[in-house]
Amino acid sequence: MKNFILLFTIIILVSTVNTLPSDNKNKFVLVIHGGAGATPRDIPEELQSQYLKSLTEALIIGKNILSNGGTALDAVEKVVNYLEDNQLFNAGRGSVLTSEGKVEMDAAIMDGIDLSAGAVAGVNKIKNPISLARLVMQKTPHVMLISNGAENFAKEMNVEFGDSSYFLLDSQIDKWRDIKKKMNENKKGTVGAVALDVNGNLAAATSTGGMMMKRPGRVGDVPIIGAGTYANNQTCAVSATGWGEKFIRNNVAVSISKLMEYKGVSLKTAVNELINNILQPNDGGVIAIDKDGNYSMMYNTKSMFRGVINSDGFSEVKIWE
Ligand code: ASP
Repeated sequence: MKNFILLFTIIILVSTVNTLPSDNKNKFVLVIHGGAGATPRDIPEELQSQYLKSLTEALIIGKNILSNGGTALDAVEKVVNYLEDNQLFNAGRGSVLTSEGKVEMDAAIMDGIDLSAGAVAGVNKIKNPISLARLVMQKTPHVMLISNGAENFAKEMNVEFGDSSYFLLDSQIDKWRDIKKKMNENKKGTVGAVALDVNGNLAAATSTGGMMMKRPGRVGDVPIIGAGTYANNQTCAVSATGWGEKFIRNNVAVSISKLMEYKGVSLKTAVNELINNILQPNDGGVIAIDKDGNYSMMYNTKSMFRGVINSDGFSEVKIWE
């Protein structure tokens, strides 16, 4: 009887530990995006190769973490750090400007193991908002801190700050002046990463300067858990890019997860439902990975900077179809 109880206990313990099916052991997948939008196919070749090179470098950073048994959470944070530091993208350095010509950044990170999540919104001096979001997740009982409160917390945590000369790039100021004249630009170029690690854990991270010419104080979908960022080991990890208000209203990231959970549909079907049936053309796109390593990079805009790398040695980076 004693042996039977012990065996029963072991079976229960084993079945509650979140492991991948045996054929998934040592498998990892990383998918990234650098924003959805309307990048014309005739951008200068040199710029195109800078984008593709940057996406490739970001993938390699994540691959080095994941192939050494690192966590999905570390991988998505470090990949997003790289993209935040890269001026080509609308996050960290390179963020677009508000209607008042200032930077206001949003970011969120989520761990699929236990649904823990951290986010910051409206920060304008933090070099890497995604790392501050991770600190909110791990060092406070809260999910989101905004603006001055977030920056005071960053000081306590000794997080690196950037001054206005770091963020206010001449290129962005010129664009801002230009757009201020036309007032019709809808620039997109957020960054994000989702990863599955060798232990079967999923994580998602997204970071952005938001929409160009947004009102000061506007918060987009990126730091709203379930709108632009979501991860759950039972289903999938999602990072979105596009018109944030649409992603908030439709709870896009968590809806993909819930469709899989409640209706038992595949990742591809769930992503397709949100991107092509719920959202409208030109709203944006998502990158997503499910718990078995299937992934999707779907968008309804003209372009989306994106890339994937996995443990089978496959990798690709793309801008258009
Ligand atoms: N979703 C972001 C926002 O609305 C913008 C983007 O992805 O380009 O803030």
